[in-house]
Order: sequence, then C-alpha cells, then structure tokens
Amino acid sequence: MDQPTLIVFAVAAVIGLLASLVILRRRDQPDESPFATSTEGMKRCPNCGMANIVTDTTCASCGQTLPG
Ligand SMILES: [Zn+2]
Repeated sequence: MDQPTLIVFAVAAVIGLLASLVILRRRDQPDESPFATSTEGMKRCPNCGMANIVTDTTCASCGQTLPG
C-alpha cells in the first residue's frame, strides 16, 4: 500500500473518531431534559445519566436495566 493511501485512511479514521466523541459528549450534557431523549431515539440511564440507544435494554455505561 502506498503512503498517500495510508494517510487518507488515517485522516478519515481520526475525523470519524472525533465526530463520534463530539456527538457522544453532546448527548451526555446533563442540562438537557431527560424527557427530550425519546424524541431523538435515545433514552437516558436513570442511574448514571448516560444516553443509550432506545433499543438498548441495559445501560452501555453502568449496566443498569433501562425502562421502556
Ligand atoms: Zn447507566
């Protein structure tokens, strides 16, 4: 594999990782209403406040069983 291809892959990976982190941090803002999460397809853990995908049955952060 030639060098420019590797650089493109590395940059794309870093950008993707940073974007994911920004999205996760924004979803984890405590000043957000817990009732607003259902409209985003997310639900907040009642134990730690972590935003989880609405289809999840347990919290990705602490393992608490999620309601609904
Ligand atoms: Zn949790």
